[in-house]
Amino acid sequence: MNKTAVFPGSFSPFTIGHQCIIDKAIPLFDKIIIAIGINSKKNQYFSIEERIQWIKDVYPNNPKITVQFYEGLTVDFCNRQNANFILRGLRDSHDFKFEKNIAQMNQKLNNEIETIFLITPPEISHISSTIIRDIIKNGGDVSKFIPKQINL
Ligand code: ADP
Repeated sequence: MNKTAVFPGSFSPFTIGHQCIIDKAIPLFDKIIIAIGINSKKNQYFSIEERIQWIKDVYPNNPKITVQFYEGLTVDFCNRQNANFILRGLRDSHDFKFEKNIAQMNQKLNNEIETIFLITPPEISHISSTIIRDIIKNGGDVSKFIPKQINL
């Protein structure tokens, strides 16, 4: 069976934390779809177009990686893409509590789709897009926290 994973998130912006999870997942799957979820409740600080372009710039030549955006339920998007796996990163117990509930709800919605969690190394577990956006809004330098291919 072709193993396709959807890695859903806001990626606003894409960070070395996201990159680390994807790099760890590349050997595990045949295809990884990085899926930018459009969430009307979340602040769209960066446009969809720029988020898609950044991710393409980080993975220009990897045939396993594609980028898309979607609206609606992640499990419905997975169905449309014939993906059986949802990939998520875990930084700490706070992520775990939140992610466990979402994964169990998704299991109830579609028990053919399995959520796979990968744990981030401790040296990047403090990195979050929310904090990076705050640093940017206040004129700070975030270059250490985002892949070198991305120029914010
Ligand atoms: P969401 O808005 O869905 O939380 P994010 O873009 O913040 O989307 O995160 C997407 C995924 O990447 C989530 O699984 C999140 O836990 C993971 N992630 C974010 N930052 C890191 C990090 N520093 N290390 C590991 N995983 C991370």
